[in-house]
Amino acid sequence: MPDYENRTMFVCLLIPTTTVRMRAMTPIDLRSDTVTRPTAEMRAAMAAAEVGDDVIDIDPTVQKLQNQVAELLGKEAAIFMPSGTMTNQIAVRIHCKPGDEFLCDAGCHIYNYEQGGFAQLSGVVAQPVHGEGGILKPEQLVDLIRPENEHLVQTRMATLENTHNRGAGAIQPYENVVEICRWAHENRLTTHLDGARLFNAVVASGVAASQWAQHFDTVSVCFSKGLGAPVGSALVGSAEVIALARRYRKLFGGGMRQAGIIAAGALYALENNIGRLAEDHKNAQVLAEAVRNTPDLRLNPDRVDTNMVIFEIAPDRGTAEEVAERLSDHAVLTLPFARHKIRAVTHLDVDATQTQQAAEIIERIWA
Ligand SMILES: *Cc1c(COP(=O)(O)O)cnc(C)c1O
Repeated sequence: MPDYENRTMFVCLLIPTTTVRMRAMTPIDLRSDTVTRPTAEMRAAMAAAEVGDDVIDIDPTVQKLQNQVAELLGKEAAIFMPSGTMTNQIAVRIHCKPGDEFLCDAGCHIYNYEQGGFAQLSGVVAQPVHGEGGILKPEQLVDLIRPENEHLVQTRMATLENTHNRGAGAIQPYENVVEICRWAHENRLTTHLDGARLFNAVVASGVAASQWAQHFDTVSVCFSKGLGAPVGSALVGSAEVIALARRYRKLFGGGMRQAGIIAAGALYALENNIGRLAEDHKNAQVLAEAVRNTPDLRLNPDRVDTNMVIFEIAPDRGTAEEVAERLSDHAVLTLPFARHKIRAVTHLDVDATQTQQAAEIIERIWA
């Protein structure tokens, strides 16, 4: 049993009844948009999925998902994989060879949260650039391509992340994306977009997925984040690139056989859960307002574009661990993100009422 449930039961014995009711509730889990559980409808779609051996030839449900994702992102082909880490690392493998480098924002997921897989698996190095809250400006990149010289690695690729996880779900300014990708291609670099939360950017910006994607050679998207599927990501690109990705997927151990069962969850998510991301964005604003109303807490970065809120506790008032602990005592789960930073993420398993409760708890425990 998770620790917070034990704590909840213990605390119930000691405190007044109004608080007991609050504490005995199911926790409001804002740690990540990956904590969602498949609904009965999604499970039914998964149970009914038509399947085949996708390693020997094809699984019809996986194929349907791949076709649908490719079409939605305006690319020739897509390939289903178990995780966003795998789609990103295979993209690196496709675009770069040992002794190459890629340009990325210093706070990005590929650089920080994938064990440096590009180095371990592909012999590639990164040249991280410090963007503001995950946002790179075109002028930061122009001088970074290394000249032809046998002392140097060769610069091959530029990557962006949209929305940006450490940037509190920030949406990349569209004009920056256009300009960075144009510059990259003019200079014979390829481009990859880590679009784990691209659909959040789509819903919040009104810029279609295919419009974002057209500037990149490859794009990865996750079904297991805001879209609420239990498993899976896809990589999209040209037919040629995706054929290569299929080879690397097998090499990296990601060839899956009757994967239609999980692809059906992803398909269900794609068909039903994109539009509703707007509710998560609205709920994130409610949490942001609670942080703004609390003197010891501060949004950092001070923007909430989509479904994430990152806030800081004044250093003399405690650490992120302590804040998360205190919130968890009140059945609100958050993620310590740095020594004084806490992340809260809204998603389809937290409705407007629960968000309001979480917001009140955030304000009340510092009152
Ligand atoms: C979650 C995430 C990934 C990786 O996805 P996994 O499925 O957890 O491997 C990649 N990029 C970003 C921005 C993410 O948030």
